Amino acid sequence: MQALFADRLARIGSQNEFKIADDIARAEAMGVKVARLNLGEPDYDSAENINECAVEQIRAGNSHYCDPSGILPFRETIARFVSETRGIEVSPDQVLVTIGGKPSIPFTFLTYVNPGDEVIYPSPGFPAYEAWSNFTRAVPRPVHLKEETNYRFNASDLAPLVNRKTKLLVINSPSNPTGGVLTGDDLAEIAEIMEAQAHPDYRIYSDEVYEEFVFDGHTHHSIASEPGMRERTVIMNCHSKTFAMTGWRIGYAVAPTREEAQALRLWSINIYSCGQPFIQMAAREALENPVNTGIIREMRDRFQERRDIIVPLINAVDGMRCNMPDGAFYTFINVAEACERVGAIRFSAEHPDAPPPSTLFQLFALYRHGVATLDRAAFGVLGSEGQHYLRISLASDIDALKTGVAGLADASVDVEGFRAFLEQPELYT
Ligand code: PMP
Repeated sequence: MQALFADRLARIGSQNEFKIADDIARAEAMGVKVARLNLGEPDYDSAENINECAVEQIRAGNSHYCDPSGILPFRETIARFVSETRGIEVSPDQVLVTIGGKPSIPFTFLTYVNPGDEVIYPSPGFPAYEAWSNFTRAVPRPVHLKEETNYRFNASDLAPLVNRKTKLLVINSPSNPTGGVLTGDDLAEIAEIMEAQAHPDYRIYSDEVYEEFVFDGHTHHSIASEPGMRERTVIMNCHSKTFAMTGWRIGYAVAPTREEAQALRLWSINIYSCGQPFIQMAAREALENPVNTGIIREMRDRFQERRDIIVPLINAVDGMRCNMPDGAFYTFINVAEACERVGAIRFSAEHPDAPPPSTLFQLFALYRHGVATLDRAAFGVLGSEGQHYLRISLASDIDALKTGVAGLADASVDVEGFRAFLEQPELYT
């Protein structure tokens, strides 16, 4: 049979992070007032000096094609920033500026991974890792992050997964969705296992987009700072979270060598030619101006304060529990008991076509109790069976957070409401 869509489309997952917007719109159209705890972005706007800079640049005519690697002044700033903060030597020709942080995920997979190569990535984790692993026909080896270790992983978790076919290891610390933060010791152990067991030309993709959001006075560690690891690591970062610039779409990758940066940029040239020079100048201002460092600290402290209020409230809910996240701005809530109580686990087990329990519970919480969250399956599906979690974002307004947690508490005991919800299959299929 001739098909409209190419087969490869089936290998690229769709991201719930964006799909949920449709569900929220539908819930609101049904008259539900929604507390949006699903959003993966700070509830701040980009700072005035950054905005001014972009406007000035556009007015000055800096609105043409530019260097596909990114304009030199911005790459110089990035190289200096990464060198200083990671204690390594980085030159501007190792830098590739991207449109948002995300493009370097596919670029890295497309550049280094052949079909049959093994890829290790965190699960739960940012969904693009599993999507691009599937797309490139890699053999996926998710490293499962566990609540008991506050979502850190180390040598004993990693060693059984690493062998001579391991071409790529993805690290994301601080982690979306768990808030887990790897310590310097964890990273040293990870580096040791990779050196001893992986493919001779393995690479690490280190997604460091939450680097500024580490709590309780701790600091972020990059695996690139470990001895010998700069040569192995593609560091990825962006301004989306750090500078509350999600809609600007600006990020960058630092490759181990100039040659590798050139390989990565082949994808950007063929897909979008180059980034936007006026945005790059504004992004440079963000990294250069100490005013912005102050704003980052304020955001971090604000997220930590909310964490300290909200986590105990969640733990007081009958049927839910969550750890204190060490970083990022999410809490990952174990809702197994709530799913059990309302009947989501039984319903999923009895209906093979039904979504997993935490997806049902997520949609129930949205449509019946007005709380938007993300479910476990939004963060990688392989091996996620039997795990019942929801992610909420602490980068939300404190009143919305309190209302949302109250809604979750109601949902977790609303057995009757869940039964009624199941009678509306159009809401969950
Ligand atoms: N990596 C992680 C871990 C993220 O959470 C996100 C954004 N949610 C990204 C990458 C993508 O960032 P950007 O929006 O700049 O593409």
